[in-house]
This record gives sequence, structure tokens and C-alpha cells, in this order.
Amino acid sequence: PVLYKRVFQGWEPDDKHNMAVERTLSIIKPDGVEKNKIGNILARFESAGLRIAALKMAHLSRAEAEGFYYVHKARPFFGELTEFMSRGPVVISVLEGADAVAKNRELMGATDPAKAAPGTIRKDLATSVGENTVHGSDSAENAAWEIAYFFAGSELT
Ligand code: ADP
Repeated sequence: PVLYKRVFQGWEPDDKHNMAVERTLSIIKPDGVEKNKIGNILARFESAGLRIAALKMAHLSRAEAEGFYYVHKARPFFGELTEFMSRGPVVISVLEGADAVAKNRELMGATDPAKAAPGTIRKDLATSVGENTVHGSDSAENAAWEIAYFFAGSELT
């Protein structure tokens, strides 16, 4: 529901309190699972106020990884990326909360761990631009597509 605040002679939307509640898709990539960092990473989401609305572990086939990263198929690193993403299990989750897309991107840090801000997941845990430990949707629109790629509506709590 939209919250209202009292203004002179009437009401107007209280934008300070009307942050968008969003959902975003997160993947703990094979390197994060191999390093035993699942709990570490999920704790960061929860500590930041993001609710885990769905959660599963899966070992993606090469074809499933290619389908997920379809938008990158013309990039030179597509083969390397899809081989990496299918080399071992991943943890896929739906995170929900105020500005979830941007909040998750902030927690993740820059794509290249060397350029990621201190205290971010990629700075603390990742080793290279390819093996950068986490994926996060980059827009609410892409999040909707990515969530539907991995979860049926009935799996979202
Ligand atoms: P992000 O995951 O931060 O949104 P991109 O959408 O640009 O970044 O890239 C998707 C994924 O492709 C990255 O997370 C990374 O795993 C891989 N990737 C990006 N750039 C490179 C690169 N130059 N070499 C190898 N892998 C890369």
C-alpha cells in the first residue's frame, strides 16, 4: 500500500517511505560453493535486510548455463563463462526487499574483484573477473526473467 504524509491542506505520497519492494535473482557461483562460502554470502543478504524468498541448489548443465547467459552469447568470454557456471553446484535464490536489485549489486561489488569496494562479496571472496563468486540481476525487468528461468511461481514464498 502507498503511505501518505500530512501536508498543508491535503495529502501527498510520502516518497521517503515508499521505497519499491523488489525481487532479484542471486546465484552463488561454483567457486563460491567450492570455497564453502554459502552461509557467509547468505548471511550478508539477511544482514542487509533482504529476505530469502526462494532457495535451491543445482548443478547446471552447459545448456542451462548457456540459456541463462544468452544475452552474452556474442561476448568473447561466453564459452569460458558457461563452462565455469556448469562445472559444479550453485546456490540460486530470490532476494526480496526495498530496492533489492540495487542493494544486492552493492553487496556484490564490481564485476572485477580487483575493482570492487572493500567489504563487498567480490572483494572479500572472489579471485578473478570470470570467477567472481556471485551473480545478481542488473534490473527489475531482468530479475523477473531470471527468476522465471529458475523458479516456478509456486516455489516463491
Ligand atoms: P555482472 O555479473 O557484474 O553483471 P557482466 O554482466 O558484465 O557482469 O558479466 C557477466 C559475467 O560474465 C560476470 O559476472 C563474469 O562472471 C563474466 N565475465 C565478465 N567479463 C568477463 C571477462 N572479461 N572475462 C571472463 N569473464 C567475464
